Amino acid sequence: MKRRAFLGTVAASSAAAAISDRPLEAAIAQQPKPTKITLLGTGTPAPSLQRVGSGYLVEVGNDRIIMDHGPDAHHRFLESGRRAVDITHAFFTHLHYDHCMDYGRLVLQRWDQGADRIPELNVFGPTPIKRMTEQLFGEEGVYGPDIRARIEHASSVDVFRARGGTVPRKRPAPQVREVHAGDVIEGNGWKVRVGHASHVQPFLECLAFRLDAPDGSLCYTGDSGSSDDIVELARGCDVLIHMNHYFSGTAPSPAYRAACGNHKDNALVAQRAGVKTLVLTHLLAQIDQPRIREQIVHEIQAVFEGKVVWGEDLMELTFAGPRIAGIEGY
Ligand SMILES: [Zn+2]
Repeated sequence: MKRRAFLGTVAASSAAAAISDRPLEAAIAQQPKPTKITLLGTGTPAPSLQRVGSGYLVEVGNDRIIMDHGPDAHHRFLESGRRAVDITHAFFTHLHYDHCMDYGRLVLQRWDQGADRIPELNVFGPTPIKRMTEQLFGEEGVYGPDIRARIEHASSVDVFRARGGTVPRKRPAPQVREVHAGDVIEGNGWKVRVGHASHVQPFLECLAFRLDAPDGSLCYTGDSGSSDDIVELARGCDVLIHMNHYFSGTAPSPAYRAACGNHKDNALVAQRAGVKTLVLTHLLAQIDQPRIREQIVHEIQAVFEGKVVWGEDLMELTFAGPRIAGIEGY
């Protein structure tokens, strides 16, 4: 069918549905929305304007879930068109600063704009996320004086009331649960399983998350080298988001290789886990170059039978992914 004729058919059938088929519209509106994954930050601790600190957004059902929130991930989040008040859950894989520096920004902006009219943020992460939360937002915490000023000064109270708040204003109180490998968090139509990552233990507890949604499964490794635990956690997932920090063979030491993902190790992990799509993230500028990118993808595909995605900030993914329907004629 020629493009113009096809578009005409679509327009005509849409108009007909609008006039005569309200039940169909209602049925379509009630269909579960596909889970959407947005890569907010695909960078490393190295300063970069192209790739900011680690951060991911998963929109599943009515919930909006942040996984990690490194430096400038919140900026990307705003660029994506979402608002902090819409976030319901935040998960942290580990407390390296490039994965959690914007935690304070998320909580404070959500608290300020939310004006006590939204539920507290549900936070999950490794020990000591509770202590960090208290040290940030507690009365004696880093933001303690700011929070007190916003609760007590007349000008701030006026703004709070204008936003629909009712005094006395509450302090920000994220509902924090420390989680460990083996834990399962049940959400509204989704479930997160917590696994081990191979990173910088014993100095930081390092976790990976698998999220099972009605329409598919996602595994996010956090920061991790090659790991049998990741293979088990990710088994059969639609999407595996894996740290791909450096080019295989250039690791300065075995410890570095064990802690940070490289492309050939990741190819084997993805193949062994039987995932459908491997998304590469946590990419150093040295490998984010023409020819090197292509070589990495090509070498992964020599081992891994699924699809490979070179992650970019603000890239949006669904479990099904787009399909090329056919070849259009000229
Ligand atoms: Zn890390």
